[in-house]
Amino acid sequence: DVRVRYAPSPTGFLHLGNAQSALFNYLFAKHYNGTWVLRIEDTDLLRNVPHGEESQMENLHWLGIDWDEGPDKPKVEFAPYHQKDRVDLYHKYVQQLLDAGFAYRDYTTEEELKDLHEQQLAAKIAPHYDGRWYGATKEQIEQAQAEGRKSTVRLHLPEDHVYGWDDMIKGRVEFNSDNIGGDFIIEKSNGMATYNFAVVIDDYLMKMTHVLRGDDHIANTPKQIAVYEALGIPQPLFGHITLIYSLDTHKKLSKRDKNTLQFISQYRKYGYLSEALLNFIAFLGWSPVGEKELFTKEELIEAYDINRMSASPAYFDQKKLDWTNAEYIKKLSVEELATRVLSLVDAAETEVAQQLKAINIGNEIEFVKKVIDIYHTEAKTLMTFMEKILFIKQADQVHFTYDDLAEFDSESVKQILNVMDKELKDTTDIIDYPAILTTIQKLTSQKGRKLYMPLNVIFTDSKSAPQIVDILSVMPKKTVQLLVNNALK
Ligand code: GLU
Repeated sequence: DVRVRYAPSPTGFLHLGNAQSALFNYLFAKHYNGTWVLRIEDTDLLRNVPHGEESQMENLHWLGIDWDEGPDKPKVEFAPYHQKDRVDLYHKYVQQLLDAGFAYRDYTTEEELKDLHEQQLAAKIAPHYDGRWYGATKEQIEQAQAEGRKSTVRLHLPEDHVYGWDDMIKGRVEFNSDNIGGDFIIEKSNGMATYNFAVVIDDYLMKMTHVLRGDDHIANTPKQIAVYEALGIPQPLFGHITLIYSLDTHKKLSKRDKNTLQFISQYRKYGYLSEALLNFIAFLGWSPVGEKELFTKEELIEAYDINRMSASPAYFDQKKLDWTNAEYIKKLSVEELATRVLSLVDAAETEVAQQLKAINIGNEIEFVKKVIDIYHTEAKTLMTFMEKILFIKQADQVHFTYDDLAEFDSESVKQILNVMDKELKDTTDIIDYPAILTTIQKLTSQKGRKLYMPLNVIFTDSKSAPQIVDILSVMPKKTVQLLVNNALK
């Protein structure tokens, strides 16, 4: 039975790379009818951020992926799921290695370690621990304790030993025990197990069959294999997922790439649909057979094949994401989109949403739906709808300058604005849209886009817009009047 896990450290919020690793574990588990476990790697208490854990969980749920086992699930067979609650287990295995002589206490001070690394660097060798406390005598240990030195526990590595594995994604990977930094720490001086140790104990006790994680962990894997070997316990299969790279810098995506949103919560608040984002992330490091690009979650589960994971970098393509999102928006009904737009308004996490909330747009559901309908086929994100709604609502409060219009055929524009002006004055409260439409159509049949563009600018603040008449039909008369008058000035 396949058992895999996603093991976030709550030292931050769910970012793209986390979501990618979570999703591939989820798809792998579901494809093979296996179990997906959520484990919280919170041993580094100082680095944990408030709400890091909740945020990870909440955003995974928003993406539509749920785990079978985890801190919030009823199953207890493999509990606890927080590493900080598993400290006794780690101690037990550390003790076992100490007793067997595979691990030993190291009393080197930080100062001494620093000196050692400096000397090694000066001699042009890679800094590593030199094993100085391996095989220490009872007297040396007593002396160190008498001096009040603190100790860590290190795993003793065999010399010139190959740690290798057939990576499910990268193929054969091998490291030599002589090149992984020397005997490494498995228990810190504060008594807490290190990541490379705890992760092995947990993966073993939680019966993980496969470990799928980001390829930034490749250098950790030989150390983990060393722990498996020292304890004489079975190893899972490993697969290392490519990280996400920037198309601009061709480097790993990082906080410095200001044009790319990092966190899943940001994609949510800026109006990306969870279905679209999930679909997009699934293609960061994987591709199905064939040309099909839009997959529901169920279709992804069905199509997922670990043999089609890519060993080379996955590039983050914003255009592709926007296209995917737009396609998903087209698939949803106006009602559903209205519900999602209003829930973003309610959450009020962006300025636009806050402004819409302040004018109680939630009470104008019919209006909201009309605007969504108008922009349904061209919206990139839910933000498009929110901005258009706000624009229409506030058009009468904003003073526009129409410098942009200079490049257009101003005579025809004027002609049509004059017709509109007249219509607006003649009617009491309802604009005679059919008449305006006829006029616009008559003029545009001669002028085409040349005329539409300036009208779009005037009435929607954007050169490309849907049918101008549709937009006018949802604008209050006084707004239209004001925009016409401004433009005629
Ligand atoms: N806590 C580790 C991380 O967040 C998990 C690594 C692993 O999956 O083994 O990167």
